[in-house]
Amino acid sequence: MSSLKRRTLLKGTAAATAVSVVGCASQVATSPRPRVVVVGGGWGGLGAVRTLAAGGKVDITLIEPNDGFMSCPLSVLYIAGYAPASNFQRSYGAVDALGVRPVKDRVVDIDRAGRTVKTATQSIPYDFLVLATGLEYMEEALPGLAAAREQFPVGFRAFEQSAVQRQVAAFLEQGGNFIISVPKPPYRCPPAPYERACLIAQRMKEKATKGKIIVVDANKHPMPPPMARPMETAMREMYGSQIEYITEADPKSIDAGRKVLSTSKGDIAFNHANIIPPMRAPGLIRKAGLGERFATIELPTFQSKADKNVFIIGDSQGSPLPKSGHIAFGTGQQVGAQILATVDGKYREADLGDEVTLPAAICWGKVSTSLAIMINVNASVAVGDPPKIRYEVDQTANATSSKGAIDWGNSIWHAMLG
Ligand SMILES: Cc1cc2nc3c(=O)[nH]c(=O)nc-3n(C[C@H](O)[C@H](O)[C@H](O)COP(=O)(O)OP(=O)(O)OC[C@H]3O[C@@H](n4cnc5c(N)ncnc54)[C@H](O)[C@@H]3O)c2cc1C
Repeated sequence: MSSLKRRTLLKGTAAATAVSVVGCASQVATSPRPRVVVVGGGWGGLGAVRTLAAGGKVDITLIEPNDGFMSCPLSVLYIAGYAPASNFQRSYGAVDALGVRPVKDRVVDIDRAGRTVKTATQSIPYDFLVLATGLEYMEEALPGLAAAREQFPVGFRAFEQSAVQRQVAAFLEQGGNFIISVPKPPYRCPPAPYERACLIAQRMKEKATKGKIIVVDANKHPMPPPMARPMETAMREMYGSQIEYITEADPKSIDAGRKVLSTSKGDIAFNHANIIPPMRAPGLIRKAGLGERFATIELPTFQSKADKNVFIIGDSQGSPLPKSGHIAFGTGQQVGAQILATVDGKYREADLGDEVTLPAAICWGKVSTSLAIMINVNASVAVGDPPKIRYEVDQTANATSSKGAIDWGNSIWHAMLG
């Protein structure tokens, strides 16, 4: 069948993005309503849950330890003192109202042979498992960090922002050196460390804080590479007196008592430090044999290479797609649609070499409360090949993108949680 014919056929299915057959037809046939367990109620998990619930054909369980949702995107406005935390928080009420079974707990084990996930108190069976567990920090990469974890909040996961906000408030009052360290990719939202530096620097100007932010970057330029020039320009031209930018400086160890970060470019003394360590998928993924640093998946389906009944989406998966909430949400929607199409028996596999569009994203690098740099990410994959990723980036920070960022946040949070 030609690619054109195949794509036409896919359009007629319940999910235009659905592209592969899940090998569990017998399981689906014997169960009155297939059971889908979604682990993680962040960006990816909510995309899956909303789509699955709209289909009305499967029993959905959402396992998430937090009481509610908090966005990392745009929460820099809270961290730097420009907005309350509540602007970035939502309750799970809208999802509960869809008839999703909520389990407020943490999955500690996955029994793939028995198709069951385990929390500390219960075992929950599944026909399809969607893992949207985000990531964890590789604290061991920086000797001295784990022992002083409380002193160095990272703030790259939901609800951790409060501790960073308190640290920033103390710095703005007391001054001194505030280190923000940037790891090598892959890490969550590459522009985020520079965005954080810029917004804190704006606040320093307003409050006449005596001191500086030292961005200690393991990379040669700001990440991601297509955003390097406008971001570096913004840091230099807008905050030349507030931000010192040190590149290709690999953190080697941290001495929390003496307040010294040792790097490949020498020791740097600090009063406050926001150390952003390298990141990986949570240990659950490794324990279940689904990958090493990140889960190994098939594109375009996001099925585990080890288990066709397991989908890994969002930042836990190890494809070259950027670690973005927008992509995580879109991937959740795609996987939800794939599962529904499979349940309906309408799911069709793409032919080898077919070009399939992958979830897209917009990421924002705010450089002040009124200016931002937008990066638009589009990706596709020819089945069997690595994905092709295309970036469109603002060449200068601008007010339109700053407003666009807020509108984007409000619209995507509404799609997630009403
Ligand atoms: C400062 C900052 C700015 C950002 N800006 C942007 C932006 O402008 N645009 C953009 O697209 N993206 C942005 N991102 C990236 C975005 O936040 C992430 O890519 C997104 O959160 C990934 O979604 P996820 O579902 O994989 O993980 P998460 O949203 O982190 O969700 C994971 C969920 O899984 C739960 N969980 C983990 N382990 C378990 C377990 N064992 N059992 C049960 N539940 C579990 C967690 O509690 C959590 O709720 C930004 C990130 C940061 C840090």
